[in-house]
Amino acid sequence: GQCVSVCPVGALSESTHWRSVLELLETKHKVVVVQTAPAVRVALGEELGLPPGTVATGQLVAALKALGFDHVFDTDFSADLTIMEEGTELLGRIKGGAGAGPLPLFTSCCPGWVNLLEQEYPEFIPHLSSCKSPQQMLGAIVKEIWAPRAGLKPEDVAVVSVMPCTAKKGEAARPEMRVGAGGPHGGAPHGGGAAAAEGVAEEGAAGEEGAEEGGSRHVDYVLTTRELGRMMRLKGIPGTLPPQPYDSPMGVGTGAAVLFGNSGGVTEAAVRTLYELTTGKPMPHLEFEAVRGLQGIKEASVVLPSDGGEREVRIAVVNGIANARKLLDAMRKGTGPKFDFVEVMTCIGGCIGGGGQPKSRDADILSKRMQAVYDIDASAPLRASHNNPEVTELYKTALGQPNSARAHELLHTRYAARLKH
Ligand code: SF4
Repeated sequence: GQCVSVCPVGALSESTHWRSVLELLETKHKVVVVQTAPAVRVALGEELGLPPGTVATGQLVAALKALGFDHVFDTDFSADLTIMEEGTELLGRIKGGAGAGPLPLFTSCCPGWVNLLEQEYPEFIPHLSSCKSPQQMLGAIVKEIWAPRAGLKPEDVAVVSVMPCTAKKGEAARPEMRVGAGGPHGGAPHGGGAAAAEGVAEEGAAGEEGAEEGGSRHVDYVLTTRELGRMMRLKGIPGTLPPQPYDSPMGVGTGAAVLFGNSGGVTEAAVRTLYELTTGKPMPHLEFEAVRGLQGIKEASVVLPSDGGEREVRIAVVNGIANARKLLDAMRKGTGPKFDFVEVMTCIGGCIGGGGQPKSRDADILSKRMQAVYDIDASAPLRASHNNPEVTELYKTALGQPNSARAHELLHTRYAARLKH
């Protein structure tokens, strides 16, 4: 098939999470919150019999409400938050100095990529952004900020994700992705050796069922786009419901956020924000064509003001796991061009081509989904992450500044060499 995802749960990729979620929606012994990844809205339509490339955002929200979810939030919100955190981290690394990590900075939102580094290229772990993925950022905010404000304990709330991705199930099961685990400096990291073996075992067993020993998980259940389609058919929910909007306060995402669904999208979103925050002006032309499309490795650069002068930021966008290995092998040998920022998505096309997306016989399916993402961005009222009013509000009321101590506790994580299994 078109997808080369690295699924950490292997044969369990089509898991039983959807059954557990249906049960939860029937018993209602918890407040059930759901979040939807950028790439789901441009592929769910195929499950509903709509033409490939249909944007089905409002139908997606309506279906989730009809299924009985109490609050429907958007992972686009936390994609914008990721840009604020990761963009700040990149500027810090470019500036250098004590504690700044190495360049290039690697994106960290794709668990297929994180797993590849931890298992096969651990010497490059320091290059990974410490940012959690948008899925995990949203889970952390729901359980540790939103729930207390709503008078709820974290364990009274279940967070369900709808993702294009089977590897996201393993990401949600990582021991550092729990209430109180406390970001890169707190909690017990799962290190190499025996600890790594434990981490692996957990993904296959307890992780699959959303078990809660060791603290409530930030994301309890992960459903794929296909699994949501199956749940809708099972419950007789049609794809033709009148569109509905996301709930507040985590329901606003910018055009930049939805770009996360495409290879190159994280980069394009980051550049929009970094350009405007460092120059004080919005980019004259928001579309960053050099990082668009389905090529294997896309190279680009952008010149930003830095230390009273100018600095060229050199970028690589890597599309698919085979190309990720090529880049890492070249880095290992010390050959190949030097970059400041490297985005990697292990599925061809990015998350639009994820292993949890509908299977398609359409030869142009990736281009059609990709175009649908670009169309959402082009018509979005807000198109840069730093303009997301809900993100601004979250910094004002809870996090302070990007990369603050509190932001680190909730939104950042750590990595360790792990055994391949
Ligand atoms: Fe998952 Fe997206 Fe990475 Fe594929 S590219 S493994 S769908 S995060």
